[in-house]
Amino acid sequence: MRRQPLQCPFCDNYLASPVDIRSRSLDLTGGICICGAVYVLDRTGHNLGEIYLDALTFACKGDFDRALSLTPEEYETEILDYDIHTNTTGRSGSRTGRTGKLLFAKLKTG
Ligand SMILES: [Zn+2]
Repeated sequence: MRRQPLQCPFCDNYLASPVDIRSRSLDLTGGICICGAVYVLDRTGHNLGEIYLDALTFACKGDFDRALSLTPEEYETEILDYDIHTNTTGRSGSRTGRTGKLLFAKLKTG
């Protein structure tokens, strides 16, 4: 598998490792890119449905109601395989179950 440093799929900016983020409406591990995209870590790769809404809420700056009201035309998402130990990503679609996933979400309008 070709590994590469963690980079934003929308703007190619190099990104820091996901960090724990906790606020009133959010409890996740992720980060924010300078382009406004957010990323959320799924450590096991098995909870993507669960973190999907987390990522959208994060992209909406914690506004859960707005996240719920988004239509698929209003945001873009990307999913990358992610190795938390080396902070690298790949697109192999590994099925071993040992690979974490990073879900990126970016709102098309501010
Ligand atoms: Zn970006």
